[in-house]
Amino acid sequence: MTRPPLNRRLAEFGTTIFAEMSALAARTGAINLGQGFPDTDGPEEIREAAVRALRDGRGNQYPPGPGVPELRSAVADHQRDRYGLAYDPDTEVLVTAGATEAIAAALLALVEPGDEVVALEPYYDSYAACVAMAGGTRVPVTLRPHEGAYVLDLDELRAAVTDRTRLILLNTPHNPTGTVLTRAELTAVAELAIERDLLVVTDEVYEHLVFDGAEHVPIASLPGMRERTVTIGSAGKTFSFTGWKVGWITASPELTSAVRSAKQFLTYVSSGPFQYAIAEALRLPATYFDTLRADLQAKRDLLSEGLAQAGFEVYRPAGTYFVTTDIRPLGDEDGFAFCRSLPERAGVVAIPNAVFYDHREAGAPFVRFAFCKKTEVLEEAVSRLKRLA
Ligand code: PMP
Ligand code: GLN
Repeated sequence: MTRPPLNRRLAEFGTTIFAEMSALAARTGAINLGQGFPDTDGPEEIREAAVRALRDGRGNQYPPGPGVPELRSAVADHQRDRYGLAYDPDTEVLVTAGATEAIAAALLALVEPGDEVVALEPYYDSYAACVAMAGGTRVPVTLRPHEGAYVLDLDELRAAVTDRTRLILLNTPHNPTGTVLTRAELTAVAELAIERDLLVVTDEVYEHLVFDGAEHVPIASLPGMRERTVTIGSAGKTFSFTGWKVGWITASPELTSAVRSAKQFLTYVSSGPFQYAIAEALRLPATYFDTLRADLQAKRDLLSEGLAQAGFEVYRPAGTYFVTTDIRPLGDEDGFAFCRSLPERAGVVAIPNAVFYDHREAGAPFVRFAFCKKTEVLEEAVSRLKRLA
């Protein structure tokens, strides 16, 4: 008699692709353009702020459940100054253990067994797992390659909503495709959410990483959306401290309180001293954010051009620090097999986009490379990848 797996709801997910591919890079010594983390730490003054907090005994014991007041105010000011979105730091901001916990807490709190969650496919791997943990059903809406970019089909989105739909789970700028949803697209999503009385959970961790003058629009800033939207942010990407795991949500008091009800039983609190440091980071001058963006844009161009010269078809991203490629021009079709053999063939590690799909075949020939790496590392990776041509 075969017994069902012990982790029945999660059995389909296995080990995350990021762990698998970073282990492959460590084992083979290949350049790791797989898991998205920078190979240079964020600003020295912010590291020092963390050291100071630690030495001064701020945050070494459990911080307050909703997050330290300094960070909650900094998050509220950031949303107001950038997007004109006013949130009360006491009732409408919640600090989490990275965006990962924010996603988990939001879905566990808001999704009941049997509810449907509409999400943009390909999707970040934790979305599917958290919908499953909540007992919900995921309903993918596939972004399709079109003229060098991945686009959302609004009719498909509309058709995906049923009477069982509880919420739309958005991600813009979008990992892995690099798509930045436009104001017009978001307006259509907002109209649908209002018409069908849906909640929106929106993962905006790459909000500052947008290129060529593209505008990041938080859907919460559109008419009628503030009261039905949970917006998720993270310090990991914006300040290049992915190991600190400082994230947050902003939402109405009712939604914030609902998310907190789950969050308090996940970690309760985390990252005490780092919360003080990120409060300072959010108040860095505009030059910090401009420099980060310009630096990553140059790296995007370097890697995108190199990949094109190496024979890949390249989807140049409008945001994030990932570039998606099509491997078919190289004579390959299976992204999994390609990524598993890439360390041997070219000394580089990448991520097969198929892991981000329910429709695996739709994602099969696509492979993602991260460009949040030193220029010389990207140059070396490109020169190695040119061996494939
Ligand atoms: N959402 C997306 C789209 C991501 O790419 C990531 C991780 N890189 C996260 C959430 C998780 O963020 P954090 O490290 O803050 O938990
Ligand atoms: N978000 C990062 C990526 O997409 C990785 C995060 C993780 O390792 N879970 O590469």
